[in-house]
Amino acid sequence: MATIPDFASIPARLLPIETMLPVRAIEAGMVGSGVWAGTPAVFLRLQGCPVRCSWCDQPGTWDLPVAQELEEQASEEEIEISDDNLCSTGWRWIGATRLLALLASHTTNHVVITGGEPALYDLMEITTAIKQSGRTVAVETSGTLPLSVVSGTWVTLSPKHNNPAGLLVADTAYRRAQEIIIVITGPDDRRWIDRAIKARSASAPIYLAPELGRRLADPVAGHHQSLLLLCYHLAMEYGCRLALQADHLLTML
Ligand code: SF4
Repeated sequence: MATIPDFASIPARLLPIETMLPVRAIEAGMVGSGVWAGTPAVFLRLQGCPVRCSWCDQPGTWDLPVAQELEEQASEEEIEISDDNLCSTGWRWIGATRLLALLASHTTNHVVITGGEPALYDLMEITTAIKQSGRTVAVETSGTLPLSVVSGTWVTLSPKHNNPAGLLVADTAYRRAQEIIIVITGPDDRRWIDRAIKARSASAPIYLAPELGRRLADPVAGHHQSLLLLCYHLAMEYGCRLALQADHLLTML
């Protein structure tokens, strides 16, 4: 009969080393835009983003985990977001094995790894484990860092050009993406559509999303409508698709 090893008796240096990830939140939701729009999913939100877009709706994820002491980590309860909680305020280092167990409490079959910028971390182990558990896995990235994921991972690229950090979006990020979602802030952003058309894999659709970010809470009169109209006209001109999130639509009502 197989026996369960007594891990406590094994020297730490002989134990398999798991990749630890700084988890900001694990939350159930629905994919808001792109090919998977409307699909129930569990979102694994990682801490840390060097890109710092001015319109970011997740600025709490910006600080890199190295700046926080281990004793200040959030508890697992704090990062498990339910409808009753609004937002986690901290993050916690968690390995792939424990992450899989936490994800297993969610019934949805689709896992989205987001941030922050998840490409800060080696995602090979967690994407492999999620795939092996029978779920589909997607990663959302700004394209400013190389991405390490298992083959078969769905990659959503939302290229963040002209970011305050001065990070560049590589052509390889476009070629690796299964879909590209471009945030439109004004007419000049047509240059990013041109870039995406040149650099993408031929099968990757391009979506245009109006930049509403932080303005959702404090809408500027007419701003939402004019950006939406701009996206509509650019989509018609370039043959792209509109990416309209449910919360965007609600602000139009
Ligand atoms: Fe926010 Fe994403 Fe931009 Fe990072 S890349 S600042 S998480 S919008």
